[in-house]
Amino acid sequence: MKIGSIINGDEMKPSKETMTVTNPYNNEVVAEIALAAEEELNRAIDNSYDTFHQTTKKMPAHERGDILLKASNLLEERLEEFAETITKEAGKPLQFSRGEVERSMQVLRFAAEEAKHMEGEVLPMDAAIGGKNRFGFTKRVPLGVVAAITPFNFPLNLTLHKVAPAIAAGNTIILKPAEKTPLSAYKLVQLLHEAGLPKGALNLVLGTGKEIGDPLVKHERIHKVTFTGSLPVGRTIRKNAGFKKVTLELGSNSPNILFEDADLNEAIPSLVKGSFAFSGQVCISAQRIYVHQNIYESFLNEFIRQTEALTIGDPMNEETDFGPMINEDEAKRAKTWIDDAVNHGATIKTGGERNGTILKPTIMTDVKSDMKIIAEEVFAPIVSVIPFSSENQVVSKSNDSIYGLQAGIFTKDIDRAFRIADQLEMGGVWINEISTYRQDNHPYGGVKQSGIGREGVKYALEDMTEMKFYGIKLNG
Ligand code: NAD
Repeated sequence: MKIGSIINGDEMKPSKETMTVTNPYNNEVVAEIALAAEEELNRAIDNSYDTFHQTTKKMPAHERGDILLKASNLLEERLEEFAETITKEAGKPLQFSRGEVERSMQVLRFAAEEAKHMEGEVLPMDAAIGGKNRFGFTKRVPLGVVAAITPFNFPLNLTLHKVAPAIAAGNTIILKPAEKTPLSAYKLVQLLHEAGLPKGALNLVLGTGKEIGDPLVKHERIHKVTFTGSLPVGRTIRKNAGFKKVTLELGSNSPNILFEDADLNEAIPSLVKGSFAFSGQVCISAQRIYVHQNIYESFLNEFIRQTEALTIGDPMNEETDFGPMINEDEAKRAKTWIDDAVNHGATIKTGGERNGTILKPTIMTDVKSDMKIIAEEVFAPIVSVIPFSSENQVVSKSNDSIYGLQAGIFTKDIDRAFRIADQLEMGGVWINEISTYRQDNHPYGGVKQSGIGREGVKYALEDMTEMKFYGIKLNG
């Protein structure tokens, strides 16, 4: 399969420069992609700019909503095709790829509804001295051209968390997907066109971060940059974006806290999933599990037992729970972090071995706060289990991080749950649920260096519009 960038509905012919997308499990070539030249990027941006002014900003809300709803229905019809595409390009086990497509269908439905709720407000103008006989109201208006830059780990769902609210708001979009996983995005653009999206409302540019991402972020015709990816790239984008609006959805080393009264029957299977789903390559993956010292041993034994029961193998097999990492370099990088921790006193309770792109589900103990597997975002199937003795201690350990995306707390004591949740420096806290759980309609985003802004369709849409004030002076 050969694919190219899509500008104004037309697919670009493969140029000389191409890149291959390979299946992380068996290294088979999945597609060859034609990299966009800077001239093509500029053409895409000009086309998006013109389409915004000529078409999308004038489109009625019900039409935008209808397109999104139709796209959701089309996606439902092609669930299997999209799930297989995600599995082939990202190596995600099929059961999780299906879940990603189902969530993506919902994102489109939420966006279809939100398109019809871009409400403003009427202002009490007479509250100000001199405001008598004045009438004021606000409208939410689209911004213009939105640049959406996406990561490899949820190549469909996280793309839609940007594309769907941008369409709902009446913006046009330049989409630059991760070069490792561009196929789902490519198919999504075609699907949205089939659903009736005007040509030029969503242009796809394929290329690397350096060659396409950089000039895209700097371009003066871009009004907003919405990025999901790593902290170092987030920093560069923040610097390059200048006065543009910016949303950054970055990394994390999410804590999960289990008190003595935690329901372990509920928590342990969820934490196995939350630590190892898609080989830990999830921004809110459970990375640090703090367990009260009185239940530490019993938790650890059962957690290890259930982890060792995971079925490891080909992600295309129905029964596979656990597959490869995105590439061998990443698996090697994660393995060196394990070795480094062991050299400084940590213990591997299970896992730790690497075979090509597969790094076995790994549970670590005896870890210290300055080890990379604790202090940095591990983004790999490595989780650490750490005992604690008091509320203050666990709050301070959990907050001892440059990140603050999402956390999980397990306890039956609701007062304690709220006490802890209030003190955690996070964008979101789940009580009796793992940090890895996310719904597509709640506000989602980080504090500290986990990011800026919020997604979750309604909240992303707010950030993709401008509030415009209208005032009228009446004659009394
Ligand atoms: P990455 O930062 O390497 O790449 C993300 C995207 O940025 C890619 O499309 C890449 O081509 C592009 N890019 C790279 N350099 C660029 C530049 N200079 N200018 C513009 N664009 C550039 O991330 P990844 O490896 O694909 O994904 C993993 C990271 O994403 C992890 O850190 C993870 O935590 C984060 N993530 C965060 C969330 C969230 O919602 N907070 C969700 C998923 C993933």
